[in-house]
Amino acid sequence: MSSEEREFLIIGGGIAGLMMAYKLAKNGRSFLLVDDAPLNSSSRIAAGMFNPISGKRMTVNWKAMELLDSLHQAFGDFEKILGKNYLVKATIHQAFGNVKESNDFGARLDNPLFKNFINETALAKTPLLAEFGSFEVEGSGWVKTKEWIKDYQLYLLNQGNYLQDKIDWANIQDEQGKWQFGKHTFSKVICCEGHQYFKNPHFNWLPFKLCKGQVLHIKCAGLPKEYILKKGVYLVHQYEDVFKVGASYEWDYEDDQPDDLGREMLLEKLRQMIELPFEVIHQDAGIRPTTRDRGAILGSHPSLENLFIFNGLGTKGILQAPFLAKHLTDYLLGGAPIFPEVDVTRFNTFYPNSQ
Ligand SMILES: Cc1cc2nc3c(=O)[nH]c(=O)nc-3n(C[C@H](O)[C@H](O)[C@H](O)COP(=O)(O)OP(=O)(O)OC[C@H]3O[C@@H](n4cnc5c(N)ncnc54)[C@H](O)[C@@H]3O)c2cc1C
Repeated sequence: MSSEEREFLIIGGGIAGLMMAYKLAKNGRSFLLVDDAPLNSSSRIAAGMFNPISGKRMTVNWKAMELLDSLHQAFGDFEKILGKNYLVKATIHQAFGNVKESNDFGARLDNPLFKNFINETALAKTPLLAEFGSFEVEGSGWVKTKEWIKDYQLYLLNQGNYLQDKIDWANIQDEQGKWQFGKHTFSKVICCEGHQYFKNPHFNWLPFKLCKGQVLHIKCAGLPKEYILKKGVYLVHQYEDVFKVGASYEWDYEDDQPDDLGREMLLEKLRQMIELPFEVIHQDAGIRPTTRDRGAILGSHPSLENLFIFNGLGTKGILQAPFLAKHLTDYLLGGAPIFPEVDVTRFNTFYPNSQ
């Protein structure tokens, strides 16, 4: 890799950092992406599911149509760049957990945007146990995130734009408006560090509320590969008869490792979902970069004008990242305003030097 000056240093090669790299490359900008490539980063263990309907209250995601358009466009481009298809379109067959959920769902059908994504009567014949009824969500699917990350990082390496390394903030200096990292010089730094934001002395004041998640890989014959099944947890096809079961949401946790508590919770929910025999073959855990108000975090550091952040993707990394990476790129390259819902300035009162 050559040591010439580049415009951007991207710190972190999860979904956020890689989507920034893709957008900057698309705009012909020079950059280096540095990632320490741990096996259990949130992006690497995620099921990569995208679903325009959010949470227990079943609301349509913020800017759902734009997010979906950007996602499909990005992975259409990756198919051309990397020669592989990573995005699988799949309807979600979802069961109600109780009568209240079914009633709440009925009330939501008055919303035309919600109805747009819903089949009230499930057409799928799947082994999902649905004693309170079921429905389908369309516009959903999953991205093979682990495979895409591996392939795109290798592509960036071959282009001379990737370095596997850990950046220690003690070794990176801001000198006369340029960032110095080893032999490299950059005009701007974009921090995409996921839950490790707290190791960054410039952004460790942000009000993240991190959430641990665990997933199981099970082997199970008789499950449909072309649908996502959902009832408390989801089942997403991986390969052959292997499916991913996820995920737990743990707000108080001791470490980022898989444990018996997470496994038992997932198994209990799985047994309420299907009656087929299965075998657990693997378990993973990771930490989601979730924020206090559940919004992503984009924009400029309050006092260092050549330092930026793209983080806080939370539970919906793959759906949000392509649209938000373009949004941040438009801000960086053209000064376009950032949506208030995701602008880092909404948290500026937390900044210690804000007085
Ligand atoms: C169990 C689980 C299941 C999930 N399922 C889904 C799902 O189905 N769909 C979905 O959309 N989202 C899902 N998510 C959420 C999704 O994974 C996150 O929103 C997303 O991965 C966050 O991406 P990120 O790039 O911000 O962070 P990360 O994935 O954490 O990536 C940050 C990267 O930066 C590196 N890094 C940090 N600091 C440095 C440094 N100083 N030097 C070098 N490298 C550094 C890290 O090691 C890491 O590789 C899930 C998360 C979990 C935990």
